[in-house]
Amino acid sequence: MCSVDPDEITEMIKDTEELDIKSGEILCRKCNEDIAEVVLRKKDPYCKKCFLKYFIHKFRATIGKSKMIFPNDRVLVSVSGGSSSMTLLHLLRGALDEDDHKKFRFVPYFLHIDECCLTDANAKCISLDICKHVSSKNFICYTVSIEQSMSSDPITPLQYSEQTKHIVSEDLKFKLQELFNSCSSSSAREDLLLQLRQDMISRCAESLGFTKVFVGDNATGLAVSLLSSVAQGRGAHLASKVHFKSLHGQTENYRPMRELLINEIDAYISINNISKFQTDNSGQGESIGQCTEKFVLGLQSEFPSTIPTIFRTGDKLASENKMDSESGSNDNCALCGRILDTDQGLASALHATVVSQQMSVSNRSTIRSNEAVTEVSSPEKAVANSSAMNGGCCGEGGCCGGGGGGCGTSGSKAPCLELTKPLVESCLCYGCRVILRELAEVDKLPSVVKKAALTQEKRKQMKNEIKDFLL
Ligand SMILES: [Zn+2]
Ligand SMILES: [Zn+2]
Repeated sequence: MCSVDPDEITEMIKDTEELDIKSGEILCRKCNEDIAEVVLRKKDPYCKKCFLKYFIHKFRATIGKSKMIFPNDRVLVSVSGGSSSMTLLHLLRGALDEDDHKKFRFVPYFLHIDECCLTDANAKCISLDICKHVSSKNFICYTVSIEQSMSSDPITPLQYSEQTKHIVSEDLKFKLQELFNSCSSSSAREDLLLQLRQDMISRCAESLGFTKVFVGDNATGLAVSLLSSVAQGRGAHLASKVHFKSLHGQTENYRPMRELLINEIDAYISINNISKFQTDNSGQGESIGQCTEKFVLGLQSEFPSTIPTIFRTGDKLASENKMDSESGSNDNCALCGRILDTDQGLASALHATVVSQQMSVSNRSTIRSNEAVTEVSSPEKAVANSSAMNGGCCGEGGCCGGGGGGCGTSGSKAPCLELTKPLVESCLCYGCRVILRELAEVDKLPSVVKKAALTQEKRKQMKNEIKDFLL
């Protein structure tokens, strides 16, 4: 009966004609009794009852067969207000209201990240409406604003109640807008937002004492993300983007919606009359993510096995989770927190890119000297040069302010580390280096990223200094 088969890769057959059920005479292929109301895979008609059974079974089987969610586990569910997360809310409410033997035994709480500060200033803020909707389903909902990602203080999400007001920190909002404005391409902006959102979810989960987080990624979104991640230089982290479980620092992310396609979710929404608060991305833009989405959905409309095929291929990728959990924090990217993929040999694509960039830089005759340092994509060497020349201090978010992230060089003979682009770059994975290259000023980065980069660099230098004394 279980329909979640990881080896299910179907042949790509062109099929543009969708079965027409408008006449009201086509019977359900499953029970062969009721009139079909939903068509899946362009030619399979289902009645309402059989479709809901199929849909809910697929959702429950994803969680059940993983054997990773246990009774009484507290799970933080990230809810954006889009189709997937609103369907997840509905499914969880339904599963908790079931009879005893079918009831989910874990305890969901919800978290909404308010991204109003990134939308048009005149647009109505919907975040409180989303929290209100979640609360109306008898769940506890927390909320936090995305601009808090610029703050270095620990994050404390607010628990929503009728009295909760929409609070904006103008200073942090300004810093976040400046960061996005200094990104020169929409692909980098989009990727940066994804990283900040993930960082917020992990920081909120940590501050609220959760280790397990549910995110609403569906099969269609994951298939698109798989391809666009390759194009954005995140090939090393593909498995953690599509598998049921992935690790982000101390937080475990789970994707209970990952087996469901967006057209199935849309059918579920329309049958159950579910409210959604955000329109899903239509793929009309010019970023790599949006172009990939347009391409995949276009292909899917002619070849219904497109998304399942991409998705199942992603399932076969080896997971890096084990490496993630075993590695020390100093080996993780300062921006996305994933394991660094930049320690490659001479015969690697990464090294070829570095050489190519060095060649193009050396051909420019009138380049400014500090720009030259910035663009040499052997960041480790450039860091060594710049910190040797630099005697100044690090300023805002810098290393000598003390605290856990302090470089501890104050008062010592060694020069203080300056936050330069090559220094930050040396502490980032390849995908995040691509974002950094699009960023005009490194100082605009969130202070936690700057602090992590300085700490990591200092640790590298210390390791270098003592390496001759190690056995
Ligand atoms: Zn039926
Ligand atoms: Zn990264």
